[in-house]
Amino acid sequence: MGSRRSPGYRRRVDVTSPALTLTHRFADALPEMAVPWQAEDAPAPRLLVVDLELAAELGLDAEQLTVGLLTGTEPPAGATPVAQAYAGHQFGGYSPRLGDGRALLLGEIDGRDLHLKGSGRTPFARGGDGLAAVGPMLREYVISRALHALGIPTTRSLAVTATGRTIRREELLPGAVLARVAASHLRVGSFQFARATDDPELLKRLADHAISRHYPAAEGDYVAFFDAVVAAQASLIAQWMLVGFVHGVMNTDNMTISGETIDYGPCAFMEAVDPATVYSSIDTAGRYAYGNQPGIAQWNLARLAESLLPLFHDEQEQAVTLAVASLERFGPHFDTAWTAGMRAKLGLTTDPDRPLLDDLATLLRAARVDYTSFFRTLSAAARGETEPARALFLDPSGFDSWAERWLSLAPDADAMDRVNPVYIPRNHLVEEALAAATGGDLEPFHRLTEAVSDPYQERPGLARYAEPAPGDFGPYQTFCGT
Ligand code: AMP
Ligand code: MG
Repeated sequence: MGSRRSPGYRRRVDVTSPALTLTHRFADALPEMAVPWQAEDAPAPRLLVVDLELAAELGLDAEQLTVGLLTGTEPPAGATPVAQAYAGHQFGGYSPRLGDGRALLLGEIDGRDLHLKGSGRTPFARGGDGLAAVGPMLREYVISRALHALGIPTTRSLAVTATGRTIRREELLPGAVLARVAASHLRVGSFQFARATDDPELLKRLADHAISRHYPAAEGDYVAFFDAVVAAQASLIAQWMLVGFVHGVMNTDNMTISGETIDYGPCAFMEAVDPATVYSSIDTAGRYAYGNQPGIAQWNLARLAESLLPLFHDEQEQAVTLAVASLERFGPHFDTAWTAGMRAKLGLTTDPDRPLLDDLATLLRAARVDYTSFFRTLSAAARGETEPARALFLDPSGFDSWAERWLSLAPDADAMDRVNPVYIPRNHLVEEALAAATGGDLEPFHRLTEAVSDPYQERPGLARYAEPAPGDFGPYQTFCGT
């Protein structure tokens, strides 16, 4: 993305460039949850990748995108970088004090958070070194970019900057800082933290802050606020399920109030259809398996409801009744979003009957078909070319009879191609790109990013980005907290 000498790589803001102003609404409104802090120095910063489209959306020009800004070492004048406090359930176990151990909120730009990850130890770092490696930060960059291109709400990655620092993991690795943009970094765990302080005024202030940023229509009505979060999360998880996305670490501190996907750690896209799909090396019990995601989201929302109870009603019993009624709307919200998504994937104009969807799920699971390529072969089938889809099944007879029922509904092949991606960040290609980038060659990473940035339009020369991992890639494992 340009040479080291291009304007975007300058360390200092050019005098001709307008000064960047960040607001600090979070730090001002919630000082109890914001520890003013500074980024650690980056000895030899080098910009690896920047999303210029996102920068333009934020009104940032190339000269404002200095490595000093993007690593937090030279925050804009007047900015108040803070580490945010939050609590959270990790794999079901409660931690009262998590917080940004290696991250900083630089401030808000145009109402959205500008946040850094890998910027050094903070008072929440516990045993951690506060740092991040190039590979995992580029991983968050490319996968969040893919989700955004797929139309799924997500935090966005603005840039990854190598720091020039070597960090110690199982091996020595180049360090990096990710700059990301989010509607906010308010999490379920933020509310758990506020609730645990036993300060009802802080809890209310946090809720009011969240409402004004994300759900202004719910002003003054905390049940309506909770309802809105439930609906946003139900819709988000449905969208993950529709593209085969496995988040991998749905702890309550990794679930946003805004309904954006956050914290790309061990996430990956499912290839062979299987609800038990797990990639994370530490998720040995499969708590965060593909098929468990809706149930886990609802579990997390129950923790949010518990935190909000004092705002729902003065009488605990009535507060619980309201919370339960709202939580029970998760299922219908999820079903509606998921069914609408499947209808679109199948090119239909009316909601398909449940058996058609259930039978398809059974067929795909039994044959362990590659989820993403299946739907593209299906649009070919809608055009009368059934062989590619049939070829995915060892015994195509079950598919044949299902396809007959489906084809009788006159699916629209072109509409299908607009919602079923050709290109997703395939696990083997992500690994290949990150390994090359860690070794200094960013070419494969840029090519992968380009492919997944325009996921629906099949393009010449990109065939290998549309194919599942070769057999010898073996079972895929991902790692967290790296
Ligand atoms: P995550 O699983 O990445 O969402 O992180 C969970 C918690 O661990 C958060 O409080 C992080 O800030 C913290 N954390 C993860 N990695 C590090 C690290 N290398 N140094 C300090 N804190 C970390
Ligand atoms: Mg996290």
